Amino acid sequence: MSRVWNFSAGPAALPEPVLRQAAEEMLDWHGAGMGVMEMSHRGKEFMSIAEAAEADLRELLAVPSNYRILFMQGGAIAENAIIPMNLLGEKRVADYVVTGSWSQKAQKEARRYCEVNIAASAEANGFRSVPPMAEWKLSADPAYVFTCTNETIGGVEYPFEPDLATIGRGEVPVVADVSSHILSRKVDISRYGLLFGGAQKNIGPAGLTIVIVRDDLLGRSVPDCPTAFDYKTVADNGSMYNTPPTYGIYIAGLVFQWLKRQGGVAAIEAQNIAKAELLYGYLDGSDFYENRIDPACRSRMNVPFFLKDEALNDAFLAESKAAGLVQLKGHKSVGGMRASIYNAMPLAGVQALVDFMRDFAARRA
Ligand SMILES: *Cc1c(COP(=O)(O)O)cnc(C)c1O
Repeated sequence: MSRVWNFSAGPAALPEPVLRQAAEEMLDWHGAGMGVMEMSHRGKEFMSIAEAAEADLRELLAVPSNYRILFMQGGAIAENAIIPMNLLGEKRVADYVVTGSWSQKAQKEARRYCEVNIAASAEANGFRSVPPMAEWKLSADPAYVFTCTNETIGGVEYPFEPDLATIGRGEVPVVADVSSHILSRKVDISRYGLLFGGAQKNIGPAGLTIVIVRDDLLGRSVPDCPTAFDYKTVADNGSMYNTPPTYGIYIAGLVFQWLKRQGGVAAIEAQNIAKAELLYGYLDGSDFYENRIDPACRSRMNVPFFLKDEALNDAFLAESKAAGLVQLKGHKSVGGMRASIYNAMPLAGVQALVDFMRDFAARRA
């Protein structure tokens, strides 16, 4: 068996100890005589798995007791519809901060349910930065302000946590799509009304969606919201109104335990800073490659970069793959390359990438 350095943006690499443990437990989980995929979601074995996963996530992110953690399905794209259906209540307008492809897609979807006010947009500068709070222009009475705090495709990450109190609008809940940087850095959950993300970037398998929602926002859904997507129904039933993605929850739980063994979010954040400094430091010092994002807003998780001579792109991809470094091709809307370096990517993987890039540049210069 041999494993590659996998820079996929998602579904993405998982910690190897997690995959090994899952393999060992595949046929017989803790003496149950069956694997996790085969268990009733209401049986005591699976209930204990789900409860531990939720408790570990709550501990890792220091989720306050007035927030509920929901395990849902449909991914972040489905949440783009589920959020307005749940949070609009009697209101007619929602505000969106557009910082790249994912927030753009979210505001388009929301237009099916409500009026959308673009509170701020970085489109004019090609989505290379995050508009500072002072530039956000909220509407008079929005149901919420939507943000995507790490734009996976553009490689733009908020360098601050949105705090509407600083612009005198602390009463409006902030919603954050955290799909691609959840658990990569400390976060003050109390600044948000709702955080959500698909699991397949930094947590576990595709198919599991995590929602963390302040409990006063439950029970505001519009009348035609599907019951299985009504946050209050999901919360009241402990995420088991419908059958939850049981295997995804199990793997997520193993990832949470792995994170705790690493020292928790603060420790993994320090590693993520070191990884990002290594890669961006190399890019900035090179006249062969470049990253085009405002240095203050560069993502620690998704690093898009370009070869200055784009004619060498195919050779770069072929030779990096031959060297055991895969999934480096940039998103089709951006071009160039992208290295996603989530929690499961060790510093050694980033070092291997930088070593390859240096070698490739030397051979082609
Ligand atoms: C990957 C991603 C999505 C899309 O997730 P799906 O699981 O395909 O719905 C949305 N937002 C962000 C920030 C992402 O990284």
